[in-house]
Amino acid sequence: MTTWNFSSGPAILPRPVVEKAAAAILDFKGSGIGVLECSHRSKLYEPVVASAEARLRKLMGIPEAYAVLFLQGGASTQFAQVPQNLLASGDVADYTDTGTWASKAIKEAKHFGKINVIASTKEADGTYRSVPRNLQVTEGAKYLHITSNNTIFGTQVHEFPDVGIPLVSDMSSDICSRVIDVEKFGVIYAGAQKNLGPSGVTVVIVRKDLLGKTDRAIPTMADYRTHIDAGSMFNTPPAFGIFVLDLVLEWLEGQGGIPGIQKINDAKAAKLYAEIDRNPLFQGTVAVEDRSRMNVCFVPLNKEHEDPFKKLCLSRGMVDFTGHRSVGGFRASIYNAMPEAGIDAMIEAMRDFEKSNG
Ligand SMILES: *Cc1c(COP(=O)(O)O)cnc(C)c1O
Repeated sequence: MTTWNFSSGPAILPRPVVEKAAAAILDFKGSGIGVLECSHRSKLYEPVVASAEARLRKLMGIPEAYAVLFLQGGASTQFAQVPQNLLASGDVADYTDTGTWASKAIKEAKHFGKINVIASTKEADGTYRSVPRNLQVTEGAKYLHITSNNTIFGTQVHEFPDVGIPLVSDMSSDICSRVIDVEKFGVIYAGAQKNLGPSGVTVVIVRKDLLGKTDRAIPTMADYRTHIDAGSMFNTPPAFGIFVLDLVLEWLEGQGGIPGIQKINDAKAAKLYAEIDRNPLFQGTVAVEDRSRMNVCFVPLNKEHEDPFKKLCLSRGMVDFTGHRSVGGFRASIYNAMPEAGIDAMIEAMRDFEKSNG
């Protein structure tokens, strides 16, 4: 039986990537040593970092004015590292509060500047069902921080605003899933473990002219310029993670690049939402216009259907599709690597469940 992995992260990777990575663990490029065991400065490994950077630049259309970094510490470290590098003492930055991760980004940023939460879609019950529109930035704010896809609640910003200041975006759960205009952004960051590779590597894309303007001392490892100057090789990089990320990007090229995968992603999400809307036993949990194409959240109308539907899905090889504890119900994470057949399996289970329980 095929296993369909709907995990929200670390998440499904393309099967051919996993196979290549597994082979390289045993023998990297015919060298007789494994990719986990060779020096990051060896002739064998060093081209990997350049290759990953070149592929990402080409796929996303990242201009020369931006640096591409492969760091450690996850998106959670970027919550602090971004304001630490971009804000001087007394500087103002604007944030939107659209979910758990956005709230965490706000909390960390407050260590480094005056943070204005210019919009929040938090509801009385503590959840979030939409993203804000018509954003008005604060006079003098250095950037506006947006979480592009709210992994836990299943909402997504479908149109990035033009607000006259650089956007900074946590794209952990939708990077490389759709075409974006990088030039709207000052910083884009993403933990790799949802759409780009294994956990342990964090992608940071930063417009270089925004750096060097703060009056604070930045510890060496936290300073983006350290990693720019060293080409992400100041210290030991997350070598295996970058290797797998490079393979994922190679796979993405074969999907027609980002326009190609966007088309596939749109079709996958549309199909699943259509069944949620049609099936009288289920309903979506967020505003239709803000629905995420990566994390599809839905609940049974009858709470007593939760366990039996879960059991049915498990018996058919579907795993890790329960909603976050703060939302309940179900969350199908359908990142780039989830094949359409996985969505079809979920839809078929919903239809069969309707037949026997409707
Ligand atoms: C998963 C996730 C994070 C947390 O990432 P870490 O790499 O674990 O720090 C942050 N933001 C978003 C949007 C996420 O989906």
